[in-house]
This record gives sequence, structure tokens and C-alpha cells, in this order.
Amino acid sequence: MTDTTPLAAAQQLDTMAIDAFGAPRTFHHSEVNTVNTAVPETGDSSALNTTDIIAPERPKMVSLTDFANEPTQDASRPALTVLSLRQKETIYVRLFTDQCADVTVHWLEETNTWAGGYVHCLGQNCPACAARLNVSRFFLLPVADLEDGRVKILRMPAERGPGKLVTELAKVLQLPNRAEIVVRITRVADRNYVVDAVREGSLDPDIGVAIKQFDEQAKADGIDIASVMTRIPASEMSEHERIAKRLALEGYQPSAAK
Ligand SMILES: [Zn+2]
Repeated sequence: MTDTTPLAAAQQLDTMAIDAFGAPRTFHHSEVNTVNTAVPETGDSSALNTTDIIAPERPKMVSLTDFANEPTQDASRPALTVLSLRQKETIYVRLFTDQCADVTVHWLEETNTWAGGYVHCLGQNCPACAARLNVSRFFLLPVADLEDGRVKILRMPAERGPGKLVTELAKVLQLPNRAEIVVRITRVADRNYVVDAVREGSLDPDIGVAIKQFDEQAKADGIDIASVMTRIPASEMSEHERIAKRLALEGYQPSAAK
């Protein structure tokens, strides 16, 4: 791979600088963003070679000028935020879609190197499944948070029945004028929610704009709603303290999980 011509050397220097500046290849656990597409679909943990992910053969050239002149990108495309309710907490939202992402995740508790949080289950060959960690299923629904006017992703346990968030919210979602209703959601007990249509009223113009922007982006390039949950490769997952310990108890060889 080493190319010794001066031009190639100069190019390499350039791409290295750009890469360091604009295209980090590491996985950020706490950060929710739209760059997650770089994470490979990796079913086979034994075949995972992290250098393949971190160092592509020859990064594509990008214009530093274009990059520098793109300050609006973050403003028009803020990171998606999860909306989840603590017990006794109340939020006010508007519902504008019933299209949600259906995700299966594991809770990984905090360690020295991991902030703690949900990660996507990797399905077959998932180290967390092999370590017999609980799996949870959620529906992720875009809603407008009426307190700050931003579109956020409401995390709903995939449970149905009286008092369950999905069931209670569906009653309002089915109304033809749902976008004109101020919806109040309260988590009254651990797994029970009350959803009320507080009042009808025309949409605050700012919130209308936020919803429209979200819709347009979703139509243009598809917004990866599921990216609000962290995706980590199997190799990284099996290094989580608790998973590593449980895999060892189950008799997995550490080398097999690398
Ligand atoms: Zn799993």
C-alpha cells in the first residue's frame, strides 16, 4: 500500500489531515448522529477485523473548502434525541405520524469505558444474547416536543393493553385531526401511562416548520430513526465487562469472541 512518489505522499498527507479533521472512524457511544451507517453488518464476531473498519484502503478525497463552508449542516440536521419518560413525569407533544421504528435492544450498564445505554441486538451471533442478557423491544415514534418545538423520538415499550403507552397513544393517533391536538403524556406508574388530548389548537408556526423539515428529510434521504440507539460491533460488545464475564461463565473462549 505504500506509494513512494512525492505526489502520492502529499496526497496521503492531505487525506490524513482531512480524515483527522472531518471523518472520525471511531464509534461514539454517547453521540447520536447519522454517521452510524459506517458500522458494518457483522454477524460473525470471530471474523471481525477492526482495522478493516478503521482504515479503508484509500479514503475518498473531499474538498476542505466545501466542508469548512457547511456550517448549516448541523443546524438543519440536529442529532435525533430520545424522549423517554421517568416515573411521574409529564410531557406535551403533537403527533404527526404513526410510522415508527421497531427495534430490539439490550441494556448495557455503565463501565469505565462505556457510558451505559441501549445497544441494538445483533440477532444471530449477538454476544449479549449469547451472554443471556435481557432483550427489550421498543417502538420509536417521531413526535414534536411542544416545550422546545423540536422533533424527537418517543421511546415506547412494545406492550399493548390498558395503560400501556402504545395503546393509549393509538387512541389519539387514530383521530383525523391528530396534528391539531396538544397531547399530554404522563407516566403514572412504572409501566402505566395516561394519554390525554388536552386541547385543540392551530400549530405553532415554528413547530410546523420543524415537522415539515423532518418530513422532507425523511422523504429525501430517509432518516434513520433507529440510530437513536447505539450500534456497536460484536467485537466491542463482547468486551463489555458484564458480557465478557457471562460469556466466560457460559464457557466461551475469549479468543473466539475477538
Ligand atoms: Zn442480542
